[in-house]
Amino acid sequence: MFKILTAFIFVLVFIFPINAFTLEKGEQIKIFQERIRGLLRQGILPIIDVEYHHGGKIENERLISRMDDNGVALTWLGPNERLGSGESIRLNELYPDRFVPTIVHGDGKLWHNSDKGFLEKLAKDVKSGKYFAMGEFEARHYPSNTNNRNVHMPVDSEAMQVVFALSSETGVPFLLHHEAEDKLLPELERMLVKYPKAKVIWCHVGRNRNPATWKQFTKADGVRALIKKYPNLYFDLVQSRPGSKYHGTGYVEGIMYEVSNWGTALDPEWKKLFEEFPDRFVIGSDINTGRFDNYDRVMDTFRTIVLKDLTKAAAEKIAFKNAWKLMTGKEWED
Ligand SMILES: [Zn+2]
Repeated sequence: MFKILTAFIFVLVFIFPINAFTLEKGEQIKIFQERIRGLLRQGILPIIDVEYHHGGKIENERLISRMDDNGVALTWLGPNERLGSGESIRLNELYPDRFVPTIVHGDGKLWHNSDKGFLEKLAKDVKSGKYFAMGEFEARHYPSNTNNRNVHMPVDSEAMQVVFALSSETGVPFLLHHEAEDKLLPELERMLVKYPKAKVIWCHVGRNRNPATWKQFTKADGVRALIKKYPNLYFDLVQSRPGSKYHGTGYVEGIMYEVSNWGTALDPEWKKLFEEFPDRFVIGSDINTGRFDNYDRVMDTFRTIVLKDLTKAAAEKIAFKNAWKLMTGKEWED
């Protein structure tokens, strides 16, 4: 009996390579598709959350229950540097219909020091073909409400070149964090020109943290100008509570909302932009451990203020179809 068991373990460990236990990408896509269709059949507009910061401290079941209550079909589960990309594969194996294998965020010391080992591992992960997306990678980052990183990894730095080149080569999209100061736009624009095939999702659009230094991004028109210039540029939408102020400057940062005594609405200029270019926007929660209690509020804002105000076609694209195309390389089939 012992011999049989040993032989069985031998076969398991040595004959089947470890990734035999990981689903083929096509199989995985079918599972994701089924999950989205399940929500559609219930009359729920599914959301794909492209920006989740997984730090390993929130129980998986707790995240899943928030997803279920908010009609979030799938989460791009981006792990932090300490956990590494493999954590996302591990959790996808446990919950193949919820979590999308996503490569690490570039938001820690290794990334900001352009650590050679980190960048080599990043390249290996992207080329493995197992992942659907990567990042958020931080370029200029002001201190936020859950961390005090005041850093600037220029968008045209060597480390960022690695990310842009990998995305170009493989078609794997990535998230970028960059503060939209006028003087910081050229470094991004140079890279969008240099890597026209890179799929760049610039996070938190609809935000302005200082109208004196972010002049181009005071209005939807500033975003429109970039969209027209760069076909490879996408955005996820600002997640802050409408009307809330950025603590660093005291300005209300979510400029895509109109907040009045009557309530909160989507600003008509931004609505026009979303309807004109519905292919360029996606939804990300930007939820991390410290902000986990905001999950319902963030999703509720997107649903009841943004998506509800758009045509069905635009809302579906922004809620899940664009993210689907970015992660699978194919159009969503109804
Ligand atoms: Zn960010």
